[in-house]
Amino acid sequence: MNLILLGAPGAGKGTQAEAIAEQFHIPTISTGNIIREALKSGTELGLKAKSYMDSGALVPDEVVIDIIKERLAKEDCQNGFILDGFPRTIPQAEALDRMGVRIDRVVDIEVADEVIAERVSGRRVCGACGASYHLSYKKPQVEDVCDKCGSTLVQRKDDHPDTVKERLQVYHAQTEPLKSYYEAAGKLRIVEGQERVKDTTALVFKALEDLV
Ligand code: ADP
Ligand code: ZN
Repeated sequence: MNLILLGAPGAGKGTQAEAIAEQFHIPTISTGNIIREALKSGTELGLKAKSYMDSGALVPDEVVIDIIKERLAKEDCQNGFILDGFPRTIPQAEALDRMGVRIDRVVDIEVADEVIAERVSGRRVCGACGASYHLSYKKPQVEDVCDKCGSTLVQRKDDHPDTVKERLQVYHAQTEPLKSYYEAAGKLRIVEGQERVKDTTALVFKALEDLV
């Protein structure tokens, strides 16, 4: 199955993507993670993206569209994939359509802005492997240490409160219109984000029930 996860920054797309990936054995493609990787390894793409990302703005469409094109061409996407953080604008969605990529379902995870602000401030990520944690909702087994690889957890620069405000504005202005876009295509399912991660996961799986 070919899926898109929609939702505001910090709505829990990444965590839900992991759960779906595990259940259905398909890869998660996170443009945010790909860009952060590029930043870490100092590639041209990383350099191009840095200033946008740090300020909470979107990276230009052409840049992320190229990333996705390249990634979807890889062997492991043949049996399906989960897009986490792409598309984020109407032109990105149109580019996906033009590439002939079939999308089976778009799951939108809805979380109120006030809740987002609180959640994002508690978010911590692994500096090495990119795994995501939360100080209250998804604690690592050992404080500040990644369960998966043992590296130190850090706060993302763009998770600081002022930048989060900007990212939410960008989300409402540029990404939220995708709901109507996919609604019109009959592909949208809305899931209300729950307080407990596994309750949201249950709703997400329910929204995919008829696909399996
Ligand atoms: P979040 O946790 O907010 O969902 P991501 O890790 O998906 O964040 O993305 C972080 C940043 O990476 C975005 O604020 C943006 O600058 C850049 N980015 C990621 N995906 C895209 C995209 N599809 N289009 C433009 N910019 C993107
Ligand atoms: Zn790690």
